[in-house]
Amino acid sequence: MVKRERWEWTRIISSSISRLTRRVSRRVVVDLLKNALLWCSDFPDDLSTEEESVAARLIDGKTLALQVRERLVGESAAVLAKTGMKPGLATILVGDDPASHQYVKSKQKACDAAGIYIDDHKLPASTTQAELLALIEKKNADPKIHGILVQLPLPKHIESRVVLEAVSPNKDADGFHPYNFGRLVEGNPVFEACTPKGVIKMIESTGVGIEGKRAVVLGRSNIVGKPLALMLLQRNATVTICHSKTKDLAAVCREAELLLVAIGKAKFVTADMVREGAVVIDVGTNRWTDGKLCGDVDFESVSQKAGWISPVPGGVGPMTIAMLLDNTVESAKRMAGML
Ligand code: NAP
Repeated sequence: MVKRERWEWTRIISSSISRLTRRVSRRVVVDLLKNALLWCSDFPDDLSTEEESVAARLIDGKTLALQVRERLVGESAAVLAKTGMKPGLATILVGDDPASHQYVKSKQKACDAAGIYIDDHKLPASTTQAELLALIEKKNADPKIHGILVQLPLPKHIESRVVLEAVSPNKDADGFHPYNFGRLVEGNPVFEACTPKGVIKMIESTGVGIEGKRAVVLGRSNIVGKPLALMLLQRNATVTICHSKTKDLAAVCREAELLLVAIGKAKFVTADMVREGAVVIDVGTNRWTDGKLCGDVDFESVSQKAGWISPVPGGVGPMTIAMLLDNTVESAKRMAGML
């Protein structure tokens, strides 16, 4: 048998018991075991290592995204072998917003590494809505293109809704077209929005399971909160959606076994809003007062109480990009009759 320190046994046994009972948190079981071991023998006085071991486990979006991208290399190659064409993504960026340029660059780099053909379009801020719609029409008809990404936000003189609805539902790699949203509502999705799709994969990676769980989604935007709630519902979670008018928000959040946060408020969710052992996924991307990137969850305090937690950066962000690639390759496979 492998020789282990006593604190390691405490961690292993406590995790197993709390997983079996589900009602008892790991922290409570650890305390019980710690006391028992102290009674029987010389449990070390300094229990800091053991305390660390009960902190939340990290949901590493970077590593998960890498795994997805490695799988896509093989799938892209299979599409190329069958059709003579790589899966193709058209990226359309209007204007000079530096953050948008950076996002598109990251997406293109990831596509390239996964064997996806990139058709890059950078348009000046003065581009008219009619010109943009004409380009989208061209890409809708281009057989080399299986996914179209229109980077948001668009300049104020262009109506985003009109543009997103002009993208063919068959090439809607971002999953924002009302047709695809409707398919999700119906419980029969085709293209799923990338960020919530990534969040679902992150929950699945924990092994905690979604079916029957009490899920609370904080935020109700069309690109994250709403589609995420629908995806959880489709997987048989019991879902509550919260927003800025929700009463006694902390109490609702404390009921969550799965707490998914997308509100755009730096470090808003604190430990007192979290159920012990919960899976907490942080979609938020904000700047803290020191200029550093941070999420909507106060990682420091919540990670001491949650069972699993995703970091910012290195959590949902990389998974969102991976899901854009996944949607593009899936679209190419669908068009090639490989699904
Ligand atoms: P959004 O469109 O601004 O929606 C925010 C939602 O949060 C709204 O439903 C709003 O409620 C709710 N909300 C705001 N303040 C609240 C409060 N104090 N209590 C409860 N609910 C509150 O935001 P979004 O586009 O979903 O994005 C949310 C965050 O995720 C942002 O930080 C964004 O940058 C980030 N994000 C990250 C990724 C990624 O790939 N990592 C992708 C997308 C978004 P009302 O509806 O009542 O106003």
